[in-house]
Amino acid sequence: MVEEALAASPPEGIRGLLEELQETFKDYDLKEPSEKKKALARGREILGEIDGVLSLTPEEVRETRRVLRTSVEEVKGVGPKTYRLLKKKGIETVEDALFNLPIRYEDRRQLRKISQMFPGEWVTGVAHVLAAEEVIYPRSRRKVLEVLLGDGTGFLTAKWFQGWDFIKGRLKRGDKVVFSGEIKSYFQQREIHHPDIEVLEGAADSIHFGRIVPIYSQTEGLRQRRIRGIMYRVVTEYGPKVKSPLPPEVERRCRLVPFDRAIQEVHFPSDSRYLPELQAGTSPFHRRLAFEELFLLELALALRRRGVEERPGVAFRTEGLKLLDALLRALPFRLTRAQERVLEEIKADMARPHPMNRLLQGDVGSGKTVVALAASLIAIENGYQAAVMAPTEILAEQHYATVRELLGDLEVRTALLTSKVKGAEREAIYEGIASGEIQLLVGTHALIQEGVTFRALGFAVVDEQHRFGVMQRARLYRKGSDPDLLVMTATPIPRTLAMTLYGDMEVSVLDEMPPGRGPITTKVFREAQREEAYRVLAEEVSRGHQAYVVYPLVEESEQLDLRNATEGAEKLARRFPQWRVGLIHGRMRSEEKEAVMQAFKAGEIQVLVATTVVEVGIDVPNATVMLVEEAQRFGLAQLHQLRGRIGRGPNPSFCLLVTKGGLTEEAFRRLKVMEETRDGFRIAEEDLALRGPGDILGVRQWGIPKFRVAELPRDLRLLMEARREAFRLVEEDPDLQRPQHRALREAVLQRWSDRLDLARIG
Ligand code: ADP
Ligand code: MG
Repeated sequence: MVEEALAASPPEGIRGLLEELQETFKDYDLKEPSEKKKALARGREILGEIDGVLSLTPEEVRETRRVLRTSVEEVKGVGPKTYRLLKKKGIETVEDALFNLPIRYEDRRQLRKISQMFPGEWVTGVAHVLAAEEVIYPRSRRKVLEVLLGDGTGFLTAKWFQGWDFIKGRLKRGDKVVFSGEIKSYFQQREIHHPDIEVLEGAADSIHFGRIVPIYSQTEGLRQRRIRGIMYRVVTEYGPKVKSPLPPEVERRCRLVPFDRAIQEVHFPSDSRYLPELQAGTSPFHRRLAFEELFLLELALALRRRGVEERPGVAFRTEGLKLLDALLRALPFRLTRAQERVLEEIKADMARPHPMNRLLQGDVGSGKTVVALAASLIAIENGYQAAVMAPTEILAEQHYATVRELLGDLEVRTALLTSKVKGAEREAIYEGIASGEIQLLVGTHALIQEGVTFRALGFAVVDEQHRFGVMQRARLYRKGSDPDLLVMTATPIPRTLAMTLYGDMEVSVLDEMPPGRGPITTKVFREAQREEAYRVLAEEVSRGHQAYVVYPLVEESEQLDLRNATEGAEKLARRFPQWRVGLIHGRMRSEEKEAVMQAFKAGEIQVLVATTVVEVGIDVPNATVMLVEEAQRFGLAQLHQLRGRIGRGPNPSFCLLVTKGGLTEEAFRRLKVMEETRDGFRIAEEDLALRGPGDILGVRQWGIPKFRVAELPRDLRLLMEARREAFRLVEEDPDLQRPQHRALREAVLQRWSDRLDLARIG
C-alpha cells in the first residue's frame, strides 16, 4: 500500500512520512519480537501524522467558520437595500448564499436566429425590442403585454398574459435582450409566451451570456442578472476559502469531487457535459454537496444513538411481574405472534440500564395499544409512572377508553389529562402526578410541554400517528428525565426512509393483524364508473353499515376543497334522503368536529363526508365502506392509512377509489397497487418509487427534515451511502475526539445540535 501511495506522487509532507513508514517495516519478518513491537508502535504514530497533515489545521477551521459567517452585506456590490432584499429571501451570510443553488440552468452558448426558431422548440436567442405595449384583447377583454422582438432575420412576438409587472417599464424600445422559452405558432405568426427575458447591458463576455447560465429563484425587487452577479462574487471570492470538514478518506471512498470545485460548478458550470444532470440536481457537484449534508445528519443521528445508549437509565425488572401477567390473562384475546415478539423486544430494552429508544411501526388496528399498555405496566410494577401521549384530544380520549377497557378491574391508577379538564379537577391531577398517586397518565402531547412534573416517569409512549419527525422527538429528550421511550406510528414508512427519520432508534414492526377482521375489497374507478361505486356504497348502508366519503385536502386550494366536500355532502343528502349524512372538515372548531365524530361513532350519522381529517380518526367497526373522491390526488401511503379506518369489524369492507378527469395510464396503474396489496411497506415503497421528487403531500407526511441541497426521495441512494460512512466513522472514533475530526465535530454540532439535542454529547 505504501508503494502504491508513493507511486501516486503524494504531496511533499506526506512523501517523507510514507518513506519513513516503508523504512520502519523493512525486513519486518526477520526482526526480534521486541523490535517488531517498536516498529508497530512507530508505524501507528506515522499514520497519525499522515492523518494530521491531510486534515484541516485549526487555522483552516477557524477561517472557514469566519468566511461562512460573513454577512452578505460585506460582499462587494451589496448595498443596504440589496442586503434587505436578500435577507428577506433568507440569504444573510456567505454560507446562505453559497447554498442558494440555481433552480435551473440555461444554455446560452447556442443562440438561435429568429428565422431558425420553429414552433414546439425550446430556444434561447438574442434580439432587440422593437415595440412593447399593453393591449386589450377585445373578445376576452384580457389585458396582455406584447413585445415585438427582432434580430435582423425575423420577428417574434413575446406575450405575457399576467404577472408582467416586474418587466413592465424595463423593456424599452432598442433594448438588447436575451430570451428563452417555447416557440408557439398562431395563425402563421410565431409567438413566445412568458419567456425568461433579461436586458443585456454591454460587456459581451459576461457571466450572463455565452455559457451555461444559472437561474436563481426570483427575489422580489432583484433582477436575475443582479442576483447572478452577486452569486458570482460570492462563489469566486469566498468559495475557495471554505474548507469542507469531510474526512479525505470518505471523499475518496465515495468518489466525491472536492468541495470548492462542486460549489464553483454547481453555480457556474464550466461546460455542458452535465447539463441534464445539473437540471435534475443529480450532477456530481450536486451529489457532493448533498452527500455532505446527509452525512452530517447521519453523523448526528449516530452520535445521538451512542449518546442515548450510554446514558444511565432505569434497569426494570421484567420477569415474574404479577400485574403484567394479570393483564395478559384478563385480555379477551391472545396476543398475536407479532405482538409477543415486539413485547419481548421492548422487555429486553427495558431491562438494560440505559434508556430505551424504540419505534413501533404497525398498521392501524395491528394492536399497538395493547403492547404499549403491557410495557407501561412493567414500569408501573417497578414503582415508576408511565405516560401515553396522543397527537389530538380525540385520540387521547380514545386511548384512555381503550386502556380502561383493557385494564378491566386491575388495580392501576389512571388519569386522562386534556385541555377539557379544568379547575380543581386539573389541580388534583397535577398533584396526583407529582405525588406518584397517578401511575398511568394519558393525554395529548401537551403533557410533556406544559411543565407537568412527574414523581418518577419511567416509561413514555408517544403515539405520533403520522405527525412524527426527528425534530419533534428531540423535544422530549429535553424534558430532563430519561424515561424509556416508545414511539408508535401507523405510517408505513419505507425502511429506507425510516433511517433518516428514526436513524437513532431501534425499530419494531407489528406485521400481523389480529384475527377476526373482515376482508377489504379495493377497487379503482374511472370517473365514468362512478355510479358503480355509489351502488356499492348504497348497498352497504342499506345493510345498516356506515360509510366514509373522503375528499382531498390540499393546502394550496383549501377553499376549493372545502367547497367540494360541502357540496358533496349536500348532493349525497339530496340523492339519498333517507340517510343521515354528516360533514367534518379541518376548518371546524374542535368541539364541532368532536360532536360529529361522536355522532358517527354512535351510529347517528350513517355517511360521514370528510376532508382528510378522518385520517387521525376514529375506531368505528361498523364502518365498512370508504369512498375516496379524486383518489389520484392522494399519495398511496395516505390512501393506505385512510383504508385502515375500515375493515375493523368482522364484516367484509369496501374501499372505493374514484378518480376524476382523464387519468393517464400510469396514474391509474399507480392506484391499482392499492387493489393488489394491503402490505403497508410495499405500498410505501411503491409510493416512493412512483413519486417524483418534491411531492409535497407525501414527503411532508413523512416529516423529513428540510435540506439545502439534498432532496428525498431523489437522493435516497446517497443517503444510504452517507449513513454507512457516518456510522462507520462513529464506530472508529465514538466521540469524534481525534484531531482530524475536529472540524467535522464542530460542523455537526453547529448544524444539528439544537435541533437534535446533541448537547449531552457535546
Ligand atoms: P392500533 O393502535 O395498532 O391501531 P389497537 O391497539 O387500537 O391498534 O387495536 C385495535 C383493536 O384490536 C382493539 O380493539 C384491540 O382491543 C384489538 N386487538 C389488539 N390485539 C388483538 C389480538 N391479538 N387479538 C384480537 N384483537 C386484538
Ligand atoms: Mg391505535
